[in-house]
Amino acid sequence: MNTIVVSKFSGSAMSEAVYIKKAAEVMKSKPSRRFAVVSAPAKGSGDDIGVTDMLYICHARFNGRENYVSMLENIRGHYDSIIQDLGTNYSIDNDIDLLKEELASGKSADYMASRGEYIMAGIFADYLGWERIDAAELIFFNADGSIDEEKTFSTANEILMNTNRAVIPGFYGTMPDGNIKTFPRGGGDFTGGLIARSLNAKMFEKWNATTEIFRAEPSIVGNPEIARNLTYSEAIELNYIGIKTVLDEVIKTLRKAAVPITIHSLSNSEDSGTLITEEIPEGIKRSPAVCIAGRRRYSIVHMDKYALNKESGFGGKLFGVFAKYKIACEHCLSGIHRLSVVVKSPVFDVRRMEIMEELKSVLNLDSISIEKDLSIIAIIGKEMGRTIGTFEQAFAVLAKEKIRIRMIDQGSDELNLIIGVDDKDYNNAVKALYSAMILAAKPLNIN
Ligand code: ASP
Repeated sequence: MNTIVVSKFSGSAMSEAVYIKKAAEVMKSKPSRRFAVVSAPAKGSGDDIGVTDMLYICHARFNGRENYVSMLENIRGHYDSIIQDLGTNYSIDNDIDLLKEELASGKSADYMASRGEYIMAGIFADYLGWERIDAAELIFFNADGSIDEEKTFSTANEILMNTNRAVIPGFYGTMPDGNIKTFPRGGGDFTGGLIARSLNAKMFEKWNATTEIFRAEPSIVGNPEIARNLTYSEAIELNYIGIKTVLDEVIKTLRKAAVPITIHSLSNSEDSGTLITEEIPEGIKRSPAVCIAGRRRYSIVHMDKYALNKESGFGGKLFGVFAKYKIACEHCLSGIHRLSVVVKSPVFDVRRMEIMEELKSVLNLDSISIEKDLSIIAIIGKEMGRTIGTFEQAFAVLAKEKIRIRMIDQGSDELNLIIGVDDKDYNNAVKALYSAMILAAKPLNIN
């Protein structure tokens, strides 16, 4: 392990000059911060959409022979206002002229989208007085679109170990035929993670403009504590429930080389943020429940059939139907005569009648019914499973608030307890659980 820190700045962190200036201060505050990986500017306060969206629209309009020039001007305007506010001499006009030529020469949508980060890396590098290294020289895909890890790790390591400091555009790399390919939307973190892994970095940092990882939703509980320490697995659980830490795939990549991750907000840049590691560092005290998070608008589909527990292949057929309609079965609850599946209402509702008919006939059910307006609350913490009384405490808190529990699911890895409540009780349940299980809980020494 060396001393290099790789810092990834999200689209929000690059959206406006106020944040970009802070990002530059961050990069200059420690010599170990040698590589900044940047996203394209997300929408700023005056825009409806971010630069990546604008580039996709531009490409689509050009190819549909529609007027694309106004969109190109929006892109120029977005970068230009950043450049003016930064007070640099960077000229965006050359980039925009080049974009026009590239559109005319038939460049792909992926290529056009990649220019959002490429140009942003140029502006940020110029502001820092550092060099920009094109991600096309560092990140490589296999023909099937997966990452060519061997080539990426060795090439990026060789180039960057011989580079003092640089800004690298996120979100894209090179296909074996030399074409540019982008990661899925929001995939700028992939680049940061791969660079950190190539360098076996001391730390991978993710910087957002204002988003921090809180122990509960600020809009519900007011001013929650920041989650100081998480394990990689807990961070993936948080992603699932909608608190975006770092992409699951990036966590998996960094976990393999035990590269720690931190998450910070530029609007609170002095704060140490959230540290994510395999094990919670020695000496750290945490309450068994680490975060309380949740989502509204779920439904439970109940499938009834007498003695279905004896029927082999029931589950296979059931999941087959949901898979056919591309509906994720988020939780599954089983009884002797009933199997229930929790699904997201907005996705399920689109083809609800059709799916229910099909389940009924494929599984030869006695009956099928649906309960709506369910919210899911996840109480996350790796020590909960082995601490006596934590689940009892959660149920007692909800009983005291007269909140009906509609379902319970303890993940078999014991990382979380999922409780289903009525949508109307969601806010009260989160507030009550947060005050009892986090604010009032006694932190334990967990090692
Ligand atoms: N700019 C890309 C997007 O908007 C990638 C990213 O920001 O992570 O999807």
